[in-house]
Amino acid sequence: MLAVVATDPDMAEASRAPPRWRRWAVPSGIPSFPSSIAMRLVAVVLATGVLGLGLIGGLTALRLQQQLRHQAGALGELSEDQLAHRLDGEAQLARARIEVLGAETASRLRQIAQRADVAKAVASNNDVTIRELLSIVASTSGFERLIAFDETGRVIGANTPLDLLALNRALESTALSVNLNAILKDNSRSHPRGEEGINEFKLRELSALGLPQRHTIAHTAIEPVFDDFGDLIGALAAIRPLGRTERTLENFTSLANAGVVIITGDNEIVSSAGPEGVRFSGARTRLTGLQRSDDGNYVARCVDYEATLKVCTFASASLVTTTRDQMFQIGASHTRSLMWQFLASAALALGALVVALLAAVRHLTKGLSALAKTAQEIAGGNLDVQFRATGIGEVRGLGLAFERMLTHLRASTQRIRQLAFYDTVSRLPNREKMRVDAPALIGAEEGAALFFLDLDGFKSINDTFGHKAGDELLRMVAERLSNLLMTKGAAGKCLLARVGGDEFVAIIAGVKTVEAASLSAREMIETLQVSFKLQSNHATIGVSIGIAICPTHGTTYDDLLIRADLAMYVAKSSGRNTYAFFTPDLAEVARARHALETDLALAIRNEELVVHYQPKVSCANGRILGVEALARWHHPKEGDIPPQRFIKIAEEIGLIMEIDRFVLRRALAEIGGLIRAGSNLVLAVNVAATEIEDPLFIRDIITTVREADFPPPNLEIEITESVAMRNPDVVRERISLLRQLGIRFAMDDFGAGYSNLSTMARLPFDAVKLDRTLVAGVAGDREKQTILRLALGLADELGFETVVEGVETAEDLRFAAENGATMAQGYIFSPPLPLEEFAVLLQPTLLAVELVPRRDGAERKTMIR
Ligand code: C2E
Ligand code: MG
Ligand code: MG
Repeated sequence: MLAVVATDPDMAEASRAPPRWRRWAVPSGIPSFPSSIAMRLVAVVLATGVLGLGLIGGLTALRLQQQLRHQAGALGELSEDQLAHRLDGEAQLARARIEVLGAETASRLRQIAQRADVAKAVASNNDVTIRELLSIVASTSGFERLIAFDETGRVIGANTPLDLLALNRALESTALSVNLNAILKDNSRSHPRGEEGINEFKLRELSALGLPQRHTIAHTAIEPVFDDFGDLIGALAAIRPLGRTERTLENFTSLANAGVVIITGDNEIVSSAGPEGVRFSGARTRLTGLQRSDDGNYVARCVDYEATLKVCTFASASLVTTTRDQMFQIGASHTRSLMWQFLASAALALGALVVALLAAVRHLTKGLSALAKTAQEIAGGNLDVQFRATGIGEVRGLGLAFERMLTHLRASTQRIRQLAFYDTVSRLPNREKMRVDAPALIGAEEGAALFFLDLDGFKSINDTFGHKAGDELLRMVAERLSNLLMTKGAAGKCLLARVGGDEFVAIIAGVKTVEAASLSAREMIETLQVSFKLQSNHATIGVSIGIAICPTHGTTYDDLLIRADLAMYVAKSSGRNTYAFFTPDLAEVARARHALETDLALAIRNEELVVHYQPKVSCANGRILGVEALARWHHPKEGDIPPQRFIKIAEEIGLIMEIDRFVLRRALAEIGGLIRAGSNLVLAVNVAATEIEDPLFIRDIITTVREADFPPPNLEIEITESVAMRNPDVVRERISLLRQLGIRFAMDDFGAGYSNLSTMARLPFDAVKLDRTLVAGVAGDREKQTILRLALGLADELGFETVVEGVETAEDLRFAAENGATMAQGYIFSPPLPLEEFAVLLQPTLLAVELVPRRDGAERKTMIR
């Protein structure tokens, strides 16, 4: 496997992918799961449910409270009614018991009246006899009084010794005597008729009867007494006063759990059973509701008994509230349990609703949460995240769109990475990628060597065969170097990148000795020395390699790169296909160059550059027909710096256009002055490659020429052959437009590079300047003579004026002139001169060339006459 790690995009990407732990971390600012839409919806539903439940519960409780209050009221009434009803029944029962007492009295009396001894005693009319008998009978029958009457209704005896006269008087006109008379009046033994009832005795009557005063109420019965013949002989009356306590009532009380009172119309208590001292002053019968006792502790219901009496049964008043409370408790607990049941059902229903909603929300938002997670991953830089659209409806639509977007995003990110980190021509990693990958390789302990390769002659290939061929060549170079490195290192041990136009950088780990590095460099040179097949042509190039070793020459990529670059310049200057190692003095050279760059920039800004002028002389008559403006820089410390050097620096640091503009302005002004003074000169200026390719070139030239008020036909622009060939279409367009204004164009340094004659023929130049290398020493070089002759003939054939450059000897001049050169330029006439000195050359003298042989090769003035 190739050790050129930088060519493996996946590996590089993997190294930049976020670490695993970061992919899983929840990024800040991104909502965590509990605040997801699903959870929020559920929270809303839950809150609504709980609120609803609370509301329903509250309202229900309130309503129940009201109900219970009503119920309590109703129950109060109900329990009162119930108690009243019960007491009513009991009062009737109590009355029945009393009535039974009365009936018993009557029945016993009847039996007594029918007894023969009783009849005999009555018939005897002897009160003693009567008393003796009745006292016995009364005590056995439980009668308080047993009174015997004769057939006229007169008292004839009693069970106790009484004043019978007084008794007769007392009983006169009483209810008892009325009833007695009725019985005595009309009665027969076959149908005996007695009378029973309850009587209220007045005090007089009571005292006559010998009864205590409290015995005001008594059961009375009257029965007729017949003799053996069936004749009515008298009557018996039994009196049984109701006692304060009556056994039957007490029995009743203990059975019925209620007190009983028998009261008179004046609310006097006749008899009572149960709690004592309970008084009912306002007792009524046949009224609704309960009667309260005077102390309020008891409630009672009364029924009428006979005409004047009432039988009342009573119970503790607390029974009403107790019953009511008991009933209320039963009702309330029932109601409460109902309410709880209701609330439990509501809660259950709510729970079911929430579960259903949860499921629905989960189902609906399932796709959304996956979407959000994926988006977070992507936001975190992880484009490799897996995503499949899920969910339904719009969520699914969104997911599908997201899926497509992710695919596009991956593709464009891949493309961007490719563009950002890979060179489209050679398909190698570029400068940035190398900067990212190199430190890992350089940092290894085994050391490494960095090779800075600059192709020799690549520019010419580009100019000669065109850019496509140039690109093809770069691809092949990249391939050869990759293959070489593949055979050299183990996986991950080498890096290769294209870092500039024809510049490559290779790093080989483990190479740390000069010998090992030299071997690698030689292999690189050898592999690139083999000619390249470009379309139908074969081309050869060379390579200059600068080498810096880690750790000897530096430990960082930047240091090693700079140092290898410096070393590369050394290699380049010592000829093609060489390599050189970085040495510390190169750093000094670099520093000096940097200082020069700074000084040049300053000089340009301060217009410290000057323009010298070199004449172009007619080969026909020796007249100065034109002049070439050439930039000169006198460095305050280093003296004159040759244009070859500072022009190159200016080109490299992007200041050449400013120099050209300055020279143009200055030359237009100075030569313009000479033209206005009468010299008919054609001024030639040089333009750099970058300038002619600048879209604003035409506009700038026109403006500058107009501002200088310079006649356009007197201006000639020199474009070097290599520049013209590099981009012929652009050059042709620029030339054509400016030529319409009358400006002339010349191809400079023709013959110095790989000329493409057909392209040259199509370019609308006015003149061709034949390079010094073709001209110098031509007189004594047959090969050069042939070439120069052919070149001059060809240019003439194509209609170009010709200028031979760098003519230093009369022989060379003569040869050129004889072979049709239009003009000549060179030290033979004059080196480039300051304006004043150049102006001297224009003095109207007869031109005669006196050749001064150049002994030391230095520029010096030539005499022109
Ligand atoms: P070039 O345009 O071909 O200019 C002619 C060069 O030949 C000049 O060199 C001139 O001094 C030199 N030369 C002329 N006659 C002779 C001779 O008989 N023998 C020898 N050995 N050399 C002779 P210079 O001035 O050093 O300029 C070198 C090159 O720098 C120029 O070549 C031109 O390409 C470039 N250059 C000079 N000034 C400018 C400028 O203002 N702008 C641009 N873009 N390039 C300039
Ligand atoms: Mg020139
Ligand atoms: Mg030239």
